[in-house]
Amino acid sequence: MNPDNIKKIAVVGAGTMGNGIAHVFAQNGYEVSLIDVSKSALERAMETIQKNLMRLLKKEVIDEEVKEKTIHNIHTFDNLREGLEGVDFVVEAATENPEIKFKLFRNMDEWTPGHVILATNTSSISITRIAAQTQRPEKVIGMHFMNPVPVMKLVEVIKGYSTSEDTVQTVLYLSKKLSKVPVEVNDYPGFVANRILMPMINEAIEAVYTGVAGVKEIDTVMKLGANHPMGPLQLADFIGLDVVLAILNVMYDGFKNPKYAPNPLLVNMVEAGKLGVKSGEGFYDYSEGKKAERVSSMFRK
Ligand code: NAD
Repeated sequence: MNPDNIKKIAVVGAGTMGNGIAHVFAQNGYEVSLIDVSKSALERAMETIQKNLMRLLKKEVIDEEVKEKTIHNIHTFDNLREGLEGVDFVVEAATENPEIKFKLFRNMDEWTPGHVILATNTSSISITRIAAQTQRPEKVIGMHFMNPVPVMKLVEVIKGYSTSEDTVQTVLYLSKKLSKVPVEVNDYPGFVANRILMPMINEAIEAVYTGVAGVKEIDTVMKLGANHPMGPLQLADFIGLDVVLAILNVMYDGFKNPKYAPNPLLVNMVEAGKLGVKSGEGFYDYSEGKKAERVSSMFRK
């Protein structure tokens, strides 16, 4: 399919990533069907998009007309089949759970014409396994946006075992149309971003666990010493410690290599419900807001 003929996109899942993906497609002139099983998730997504557009307007990145057009381009659906009507391209950004994604891909395969590319924003599930749920594995691909989507430039484009070159070229083209920088990678556990990021975070947790230094000290070393915008422990809190654990487990299982084994402190924190920003506490304490200034009482000296 000529990628210029792609006009209408479905984004399946309207959570943290889905609202950002819908926003960038709509802002770049695509008509977007934003689909979620939860009506309240759809409402929250539209509020977030409005808020983010207001911020861009205030900074004069966009004008009032673009803001209005962006909102106008997005239509919400709590019914998958209805939302898929007439779409030319799909990005799935639903909950990171293999069973949910496999079922979605079986349904999307049944309810869209055979030429439609089905992309997934998964952080860690094998593209090849997702593709195998469909009758069109050559048209299934990873399109891994980074959080927050409207801000982050990178799109990891992940080629599954059966993904065709035509599908890859279409996704590279679409990513550029969104003013993103796509990078092509192969389908191995963690792809590239998480393959490198997660062992770094795990090692930072290991350093806390073995008493090499305190939470704030480790983050300061990486911020000032390696020029990272945030330290690895703050980043882990931001991603969600449950998500970090799940991705490490995918890599540990996929490679059968103990170097990816999640640190026991991470496992304990997740079991105790200390998940980072989203639960109010992780390595830092967020009870007074989202800024990571106060180290969690567990790690205070
Ligand atoms: P989220 O929990 O914020 O949102 C997931 C949404 O999917 C929810 O609103 C949920 O109601 C919806 N959903 C669940 N089952 C559904 C179904 N059958 N049909 C339609 N909607 C359904 O999750 P998120 O953080 O936005 O992550 C979404 C995907 O993006 C995951 O695959 C995740 O690995 C990936 N990802 C996340 C990040 C991140 O930083 N959060 C970064 C890159 C990639």
